[in-house]
Amino acid sequence: MTATSTEFIPVADPLAQIRRLKKEISTAVNAVLDSGQYILGQAVTRFEADFAGYNGNRHAIGVASGTDALILALRAIGLRSGDQVITVSHTAVATVAAIEMAGCVPVMVDIDPVSRCMDPQQLSMRIGPRTRAIVPVHIYGQPAAMHAIMSVARRHGLKVIEDCAQAHGAQIGNQKVGTFGDVGAFSFYPTKNLGAIGDGGIVVTDDPKLAEQTLTLREYGWKERYISHVPGMNSRLDELQAAVLRVKLGLLNGWNARRREIAAAYTRALEHTNIKSPADLEGTLHAMHLFVVETDRRKVFRKYLEENGIGTALHYPMPVHRQPAYYRHHQDGAQLPETEALYRKIVTLPLYPELTDAQVARICQVLAGWGKNRRDI
Ligand SMILES: *Cc1c(COP(=O)(O)O)cnc(C)c1O
Repeated sequence: MTATSTEFIPVADPLAQIRRLKKEISTAVNAVLDSGQYILGQAVTRFEADFAGYNGNRHAIGVASGTDALILALRAIGLRSGDQVITVSHTAVATVAAIEMAGCVPVMVDIDPVSRCMDPQQLSMRIGPRTRAIVPVHIYGQPAAMHAIMSVARRHGLKVIEDCAQAHGAQIGNQKVGTFGDVGAFSFYPTKNLGAIGDGGIVVTDDPKLAEQTLTLREYGWKERYISHVPGMNSRLDELQAAVLRVKLGLLNGWNARRREIAAAYTRALEHTNIKSPADLEGTLHAMHLFVVETDRRKVFRKYLEENGIGTALHYPMPVHRQPAYYRHHQDGAQLPETEALYRKIVTLPLYPELTDAQVARICQVLAGWGKNRRDI
């Protein structure tokens, strides 16, 4: 075996991408340094226009993080303290934290076990007199059933905020996520499909009023400088982050295609094992942010991969309704049987566009070898 064939492959490797783009990023960062404008300058304005164009939205407003993008979107649609917002428990805690931070009450519903996203049927069943909005999450890069969710929302007069933090470039038909609901929220956390070198996020919408309201809220409620019209906050996308993101945006489609190519190779390698690969749902283009398999033998499977130099992770080890900060909203886990069943079985494998063909081949070989000559599975 050569040295490279035994090197440990981590579950994520944001430095690998930065290394390849060092020159372009340095140029972009230097341009910001020389501009003398470090807050809401040209880099942010240009990136907002680029991202709106890429995603097919009329407006895009850069903000400080994906969590803030959700908070600002919830506030922009005019939700009031005590309003209920329906989302899922099988998500990053940020989704539910944002709903609480916006002063609303999160109501968590179950997922569809195939897409692992919000189950539209469960959504309909949990709508009550205080329900005001819905936050579907395109988890792992798999688009949620937006057509069904939107028809429920329209029937009940509810607003929809798409949590697109894991799904940059994901599509239903030829329409990108973030264009189905009233508003979409993206994160640029470094390991996301489009990642900054720090925190960042963006709100997208076609509604000029929502765009204006978000713009106002991100900077103290200002319409003109120093005059607050509504109580706002400071949540601006950083000029440096915007400059880096502009360099990367042009590469996103190619990266996503590479992610799907690697995912297809893993799925083939796992075909004759007892490990379940993510579903490939007809009519949707998966952004393959995370490749999450299911197994009843999680502990042993993770150990097997670790021993073969392959890192894994859990997204997430505990659904939000079970976490100490949030379980008061949902004492009854029995209402979420699919969420309860799924979280014990999931394992995330390394998946990022910078994985080399040799690394992918090695991972595939190890995956296909699971269950061969092993008594313990
Ligand atoms: C990452 C993430 C967020 C939060 O984004 P931050 O930029 O880290 O604040 C929200 N929702 C989901 C589903 C995420 O994966």
